[in-house]
Amino acid sequence: MPKLAELLTELALANRIAANEGVVDTFGHVSMRHPDRPDRYFLSRSSSPDMVRPDGLIEYDLDSQPVRDPGVPQYSERVIHGEIYKARPEVMSVCHHHSPSFMPLIAVGADYVPIFHLGSAGGIKPPYWDQHDEFGDTNMLVVKPEEGASLARALGKHQMVLMRRHGVTVIGASVRECVYRAVQTCRNAEYQVRAIAIGGTIASLSPGETERCGDVIGKTTGVTRSWDSWALRIAKAGGLPAAAKAKPAKRAKKKTKPGKRAKARRR
Ligand SMILES: [Zn+2]
Repeated sequence: MPKLAELLTELALANRIAANEGVVDTFGHVSMRHPDRPDRYFLSRSSSPDMVRPDGLIEYDLDSQPVRDPGVPQYSERVIHGEIYKARPEVMSVCHHHSPSFMPLIAVGADYVPIFHLGSAGGIKPPYWDQHDEFGDTNMLVVKPEEGASLARALGKHQMVLMRRHGVTVIGASVRECVYRAVQTCRNAEYQVRAIAIGGTIASLSPGETERCGDVIGKTTGVTRSWDSWALRIAKAGGLPAAAKAKPAKRAKKKTKPGKRAKARRR
């Protein structure tokens, strides 16, 4: 298994890829369960996803409390991540987003339908969750542990849950798989919305086809190929995150030497 520092750099890159591929914009986030501590996870400080840095990642317990005072603003919707990690021990990464690709479907409450093989990444009939059903009028942010737990219950054994009047939450067995699922389901949703606009009947994959196509994730080079290509786009734009040090930084206590600072600067 890669070292923690490498995984943290990958998580920062995952957020930037999700932004570059249209999954997240200035809101939304990708997290990663701690590879050695299943009772902890990493999520960026409050930041636009395209600016996430390894040294801005905060370590949380599963109650979404920071392990140490980060001294920086935090995402308000982090309970989405913590409560899913609690409910699903095999989940290693979570992405929450409000992608424009999905919002038309969510606005009308239409089921997500895999219209081609890559759309199978969303699984068979992913469920809907409506915060209002259990919690009445809220500010629509999932900020209380009980709200996150309710969302995790709706997700159940699925790989994606659609959130009425809000967005989507997707899971993965790794950061790369989670990003792959997030990107491919957004593309499928976009095609589905266009197909609805044309009219007529949408030809969906059957449940059996969806299951078989979905099984391919993680068993072929597709996830790796996609990740490498998406990462290359970031590299070409000069947006790769600086590599993480051994541990996510709390806050710098003493001034970094000029030489080191220059090294760490984003390319
Ligand atoms: Zn949200």
